[in-house]
Amino acid sequence: MKMMFQSEREDLAHTVRVMFDRKDTNTAGGNMSVKVFDQEGHPYILITPTFMAETFYSELHPAQIIVVDFLTGEKVDGVGEVTREINMHEGAYAAHPGIRCVYHSHAPESMFWATSGLEMPNVTEATRELGRIRVLPFAPATSQALATTVHDALIAIKDRAMENIFLLDSHGILITATDLHIAVRIMETVEWNARIAYQQTLFIKLGLLADYRSCGEDYQADLASVPPIAIPGIPVTARPEPFPTPVDIKLDDMKFNH
Ligand SMILES: [Zn+2]
Repeated sequence: MKMMFQSEREDLAHTVRVMFDRKDTNTAGGNMSVKVFDQEGHPYILITPTFMAETFYSELHPAQIIVVDFLTGEKVDGVGEVTREINMHEGAYAAHPGIRCVYHSHAPESMFWATSGLEMPNVTEATRELGRIRVLPFAPATSQALATTVHDALIAIKDRAMENIFLLDSHGILITATDLHIAVRIMETVEWNARIAYQQTLFIKLGLLADYRSCGEDYQADLASVPPIAIPGIPVTARPEPFPTPVDIKLDDMKFNH
């Protein structure tokens, strides 16, 4: 018998294992989710279980991917417990209907910038379309304050929320994307950017560079020539297939305590 959302759960279980093996998080955790719809269009969140990395080293059976009803917040399938960080995921999804993946990890190179509180200079071509890589104000892990901070910050950037990365102060990264594999690409390319930006910082201090440098021009300029990640050459906001009608949910209505 097939599980609910079997192929999506297999994909997520496989992807988080690859992430762990590539040292894109540590054993303190991280969690990833995707938003899916059943035949009737009812939304669900598929999310990695609590203690995914600590206990299982991210080697998950697809049955360990938890299925949560997006509208009620109730777990409806899956072996294991729902992570307390699901409130951050719910807050992100509630911010924009085009967000289909929330990817949170403790990626080491980005953690350096996240802990410094400094905005990560965005200098590599592969990351430029993401724009600014900002650190959100500190709020403790798993807290309602962090979920609200993420939610409000995503609302503020409007459609860019469909392809974005925030640094979580002293904690990690939070990527929102239209697809799990796009989120993985953002995470990996930003990790490289984090290291390159750090090395440029050393060159600036040594007097070898006047300022951060990217693509031959001002690294902070909007680089219009770079195609978005989602579909090269087509802005994510102009995707031919419409997103389902946004469900009218406010963050306050959602259940955050599981
Ligand atoms: Zn975390």
